[in-house]
Amino acid sequence: MGIWDAQHETMDREQLRALQLERLQAAVGRVDERVPFYRDKLTALGMEPGDVRELDDVRKLPFTTKNDFREQYPFGLFAAPMEEVVEVHSSSGTTGKPVVAGFTRRDLDTWADLVCRVAVMAGVQAGDIAQVSFGYGMFTGGFGLHYGLQRAGAAVVPISAGNTARQLQFMQDFGATVLIATPSYALYLAEAIQKSGTPEAFKLRLGMFGAEACSEEMRRQIESRIPMRATDNYGLTEVIGPGVSGECECRNGMHIAEDHFLVEVVDPVTDEPVADGETGELIFTSMTRECSPVLRYRTRDLCSVTTEPCACGRTLARMGKVVGRTDDMFIISGVNVFPSAVERVLFAIEGIEPYYQIVLQRKGALDTFEVQVEVTETIFNGWMDDLRAFEKQVTEQLRSALLVRPKVKLVEPGTLERTEGKAKRVIDDRPR
Ligand SMILES: [Zn+2]
Repeated sequence: MGIWDAQHETMDREQLRALQLERLQAAVGRVDERVPFYRDKLTALGMEPGDVRELDDVRKLPFTTKNDFREQYPFGLFAAPMEEVVEVHSSSGTTGKPVVAGFTRRDLDTWADLVCRVAVMAGVQAGDIAQVSFGYGMFTGGFGLHYGLQRAGAAVVPISAGNTARQLQFMQDFGATVLIATPSYALYLAEAIQKSGTPEAFKLRLGMFGAEACSEEMRRQIESRIPMRATDNYGLTEVIGPGVSGECECRNGMHIAEDHFLVEVVDPVTDEPVADGETGELIFTSMTRECSPVLRYRTRDLCSVTTEPCACGRTLARMGKVVGRTDDMFIISGVNVFPSAVERVLFAIEGIEPYYQIVLQRKGALDTFEVQVEVTETIFNGWMDDLRAFEKQVTEQLRSALLVRPKVKLVEPGTLERTEGKAKRVIDDRPR
């Protein structure tokens, strides 16, 4: 498979560090000059842009959190005058004011290039017909993939999210070869294709999944239903949207566009950097954005990053799967539990469908932890005694992995809610 931007994607790491330092210095100078929020933060730390003399000086810079974006809503963090802004996006803001990001013409160009890299890395070529089933609108996923896929030479079908019947009709009639969706919606579509009676009428060969974590088990579940190669990519509005990183043909981590985003992995409690390959919180500094540059954004995503060489020839560091978020972890009976750990256990058990939901409630002084799991027809309609034994087996496997015992409830296939966007795996009804 080709490499879109060989000059940067296969850059010697020493040269890369020199380019990063130059770009970091420019970015710090820009926010100091144009964003009062950052100027105040730097002043409070007794810092000037000239204090960034080497790359490790990034650690002296202030962090930026989601809360900072909310407090600066809507345009407080913009570093470009409105005359230069040509597009504005925002996150969904389900829990407070949304995060807003602006793009200048050059930002849009950079964005298209970065998403194009990810698309080409995944295997997109001219001649591909790419169905974008991400929501268009304020969400960066739809437009970001749209621009990047066009640059890669694909014919983009901007169908957006929802209306599964129409998705399937166009996918079949247009002969879509590439699908862009969240992994949970991709799984739902794959199931629908399987049940359509004419799965051979579909030409999908490649999936580019993002906007939520796609575990290896989830990938297997999708690929077992339709003959498609599923790839993972990563991005977030605060940093740019999609285009931050993506999988190459080796599928052993996602190459980060380090020439644009300086990555750090820190211990979320001490903020100290962790060793190469160790898990910690991902921190990104965007070095080339004109309108919405960000210093040391705390993603709350936990994962590892390695600079070990990759067989594809790219020298850019690779990040592993996001194994959890510092804020979606929940505590039950004093034990920290990540929903991704529940998923890993469940998806590896034969007889379980890839749909589950975690329900947390409080009864009196006690928290209850229930995991509702869909099982296959065969298991559900089998002997009651077998069903009980299966339930016990699932409970035991979860207990041994999580160190806390859930109440497992096996439900009929098709019972749990299917989503056209991000799956909501945890329902926490406990009073705050
Ligand atoms: Zn690679």
